[in-house]
Order: sequence, then structure tokens, then C-alpha cells
Amino acid sequence: MYDDDLLIGVDSATRLPYGVSRYYSSLAESDDPERDPIAAQYIPREAESNHVPRETPDPIGDRRYEATPRLVHHYRDRALLLVNDRCATYCRHCFRRHFTGHGAGRVSGDEIEKACDYLSVHPEVREILLSGGDPLMHGDEEFFAVIDRLRKVRDFLIRVCTRMPVVLPSRITERFAHALSSRLPAWVVIHVNHPREITGELERAVGLLLRAGAPVANQAVLLRGINDDAATLEALFRGLQRNGIRPYYLFQGDLASGTAHFRVPIERGIELMRTLRRRLSGLALPTYAVDLPGGGGKVPIEANLVRTENDRYILRDAEGTERSYPRETEQ
Ligand code: SF4
Repeated sequence: MYDDDLLIGVDSATRLPYGVSRYYSSLAESDDPERDPIAAQYIPREAESNHVPRETPDPIGDRRYEATPRLVHHYRDRALLLVNDRCATYCRHCFRRHFTGHGAGRVSGDEIEKACDYLSVHPEVREILLSGGDPLMHGDEEFFAVIDRLRKVRDFLIRVCTRMPVVLPSRITERFAHALSSRLPAWVVIHVNHPREITGELERAVGLLLRAGAPVANQAVLLRGINDDAATLEALFRGLQRNGIRPYYLFQGDLASGTAHFRVPIERGIELMRTLRRRLSGLALPTYAVDLPGGGGKVPIEANLVRTENDRYILRDAEGTERSYPRETEQ
């Protein structure tokens, strides 16, 4: 459906496809990923073939919490449905490397039925996250059919996790917004990492979603050489707030295979948040958080860093248990 907009290739060394939308590549001012924060997000670098021992293709433990094929039930009240393994642009820092772009394709009717059977006997699940890949690689009809089938089980809150407003904003049309408006409550969570991604096109797409009645939140990732300085993050969070987008999380980069060159030491992330707290109102400040490896859950770092040891951080998880997390150093 969107093939004319996409430039796709295969980078076998990284096991994550190379692919970028014409729109997103037009935002880059250089094709050198060492110099341009947009190019760095879609052009593979040699460093992706360096895998350090603590890394894994499934750093947040999707496989461990797989309830049925494509349905991940990790947190008690919400479940994640992997709708499509394709993306309009493949982010080189992608944390779901065990799935994204590996050829699983669209969720099948049989997989949706199995997921619905599971959900029908798990009344504690109140919210469904539609993710992937990017769930909006589905066309409108197919995408809304997934929501409508899920809603036959229960009136779930729907959370659409998509990077389309950032990498292919033309995907968000009046027609899409209108269809979404008849399926509220639904939130849309996007993934903006740099202020240059906040363009007129993104503002138009987000405006449509907001006017449709779907609140929009952002999950950014702290990425070395892309947004790991206070001025860039300040501009990013101000730009999100100005457009009615809640700056929800700033994530520490996950321990995904071949992404060490993107990660920033946690001490640096804390220092950046301290600087931002002096410059921004609470409404513009995200929570700086880490997804603990192997499905340990999301932990707000600043409130839960117990101590730092030579090669690891000790963080308190949601149950109050102390958990070890490998320490990155500046390279
Ligand atoms: S859009 Fe999401 S799933 Fe797709 S490559 Fe980027 S981070 Fe990974």
C-alpha cells in the first residue's frame, strides 16, 4: 500500500532490514550517520555488527511473556498485540529486533482468534497495545477490523503504538482520524527523538489525531550523538508540549543486539534530567526510565537508582526488589 513511499533493502549483517520512507530521508541534512541525527536513525553503521555479551535480540522479554502467538501479556492490566512486523522506516536502535522485519508479516485471523480466546478468560486485561513493527502498516480497513474484533471481547482501552506521524505522516489521513474517532477510547503513542522530526507534516498528523479525540503521547529514546545534550532535549520536549503531545517517557536505550553505540551511561541521563528540570515545567518533562532486561518491567531511574557499583547499577523494581543492570561507560 505504501510501497511507493518506501526505500527498502536488506542489511544482512544487522538482521534488521534497511528501510526508510522518502519523507523521513528528506529530513536528513547529510547522509553521514556520524554527523546527522536523522540519518543516524535509519542508516546502518558498522558498529551494528558489534554485539556485546549483555545484549540480546529480545531485551525486554517479549518471548517470555508470550501468551498466544503475537500476544504478550506482561503487565497485569494490559496486553500487547504484535499486529505487523513491518515499519515505514527501520530505526537502527530498534529494541524489538527478534521480531521487527523478520518476515512474520501481518497477524493472521487465527492468531487474532487465539488472542481473543485468551483475553476472554483474562478479565484483568483492560488495555490493548497495538504494536509491531508498526501496526499502521496495515491499511485502514484491516487495522480497524483488528480493533473491532478485540472490542467484541471487551471494551478495551486501545493504545496505538506507531512511528507513522514521524516517519510517514501522510499515513494519518482525515479518513483514518474519522474512523478512529468512532472507536474511542484510544490513545496514540508516537516516537519522536529529535526536534527536527517535529515538522509541519507531523503537526498536521497529530492535529488530526487530537481533533479525533485520541490523546497523543511520546516515547523518546536517549540516543548517543542524536539527542544526548540538554539543548536538543529541551527543544524536543518544548516542541512536543506546544503541539499537545505528552512527553511521556525518555527511555534508556535497551540492551538490544548491536546497539551499544547508541547507548548513553545512566549517570549522563540523570545529569541531563537534572538540567532539564531547571529549564522546563513539569508538563514538558518525561519520566526517564529503563526497561529491565528479561521482562523485569519499566523502572523510573531517578527515583529507583539505589547505588552504582563498578560494572553495574542497582535499581529497585516495581516490587521493591533490587535488580542489577549493566553499567555503560563512555566509549
Ligand atoms: S518503528 Fe518501532 S518497531 Fe519499527 S523499527 Fe522503529 S522502533 Fe522498531
